[in-house]
Amino acid sequence: MASPEIHAKCGASNAYRYLACTASPTFEAQFPASTSIYAEEGTLAHSICELFVKTHSDADAMAEELRSLQQHKLYQPEMLTCAKIYCDWIMEKALGYTNPPAIMTEQQVDFSDVVPEGFGTCDCVMIGDDALNIFDYKHGKGVRVDAVGNPQMRLYALGALAKYRPLYGDTIKKVRMTIIQPRISADPSEDEMSVDDLLAWGDRIHPIAVEAFNGPGTFVPGEHCKFCRGKAKCRARANVNTALEDFASCVPMGRVPADEPKDNASRMAMGLQKALTDSEIGQLLTRGQFLVSWYDDLKAYAQQTILDGGEIPGWKVVAGRSVRAFHDTDAAFQTLIKAGYDEAMLYDRKPVSLSELEKRLGKKKFAELLADQIDRPMGKPTLVDESDTREPYNSAAADFGGVNANVYANV
Ligand code: SF4
Repeated sequence: MASPEIHAKCGASNAYRYLACTASPTFEAQFPASTSIYAEEGTLAHSICELFVKTHSDADAMAEELRSLQQHKLYQPEMLTCAKIYCDWIMEKALGYTNPPAIMTEQQVDFSDVVPEGFGTCDCVMIGDDALNIFDYKHGKGVRVDAVGNPQMRLYALGALAKYRPLYGDTIKKVRMTIIQPRISADPSEDEMSVDDLLAWGDRIHPIAVEAFNGPGTFVPGEHCKFCRGKAKCRARANVNTALEDFASCVPMGRVPADEPKDNASRMAMGLQKALTDSEIGQLLTRGQFLVSWYDDLKAYAQQTILDGGEIPGWKVVAGRSVRAFHDTDAAFQTLIKAGYDEAMLYDRKPVSLSELEKRLGKKKFAELLADQIDRPMGKPTLVDESDTREPYNSAAADFGGVNANVYANV
């Protein structure tokens, strides 16, 4: 099985963070790296993906090795579906070349020319015509990872370029970077740039990466704090989120909309408060969004500290709402049946969910049989900041109700 990645101080996966906050690698080194079942699950899924690509034309070899991977305690049938999507995508790309491209899986790459001691593993490298392609499989289904402008992918591409340029020379003119995350979307995310632009990017970030590696660096809190190991204990982040005077500037004191009386006596007589303007609400929402995630991080840290036997003055951990359950449902139901109750009263007959059915049938068969019977209603309206890449909510389309999935396939 692919061995879990050994993390460099300044690796590729945390580049988005240390390129924004050069203090983060040194600061978070004092907090232990946590391992999770998800990481182990991801390693197994990667191994199955690698096997599919390596043995796609040799079913016997695949079946033999797959049997052993399927013995793993974390194996789930969904991993086969994901590996197939990953492998199909790579093979489809390979067919687009004039001559069959070279395909290498699990390639160790070194980008230490750009980031001190920087190295990593490319899930798959494909070289053909004038292009070097790198493919990265993501097993997570929480946050969609975009390939566009992604520093992790660019560093892998620089490492792959350093490895293969001595063999292929200047024939490689461009790099393509693809992230395949089948549990979130069947459509991979892709980015492409010329070799010259990639090398120029590497030159630009080199001094920042050196500062991050050498430390102490500069603390710059922001959205990138989300996966920092020091996010709950970081004073810089706390300072930004407790600077309440910043909020004051969002709502200038005494400002009253032009069409309302300015003096308090008239306002009081009319029962008017100084209502917030929509512009002030926009600023407050922007200012407050990091505050909420920071507060949640503090709570998670405090709860774990108390559960581990520590103390957070003024706080304790209690048991949450408890949900009643039979300790043996079969035995409980038998008691009711013996007491004369009809079995039909004990079970609900529920349809399997659409996603589960797709998993059981396989995407192809599912689409073949049911594509024209699927509606994709617009999702619930969700407030996000304007940097979000999704299309604005369309009330008219939502009012239209159950639209056919084919019509709104790209919504
Ligand atoms: S929490 Fe944010 S500001 Fe603090 S070290 Fe980590 S990335 Fe930097």
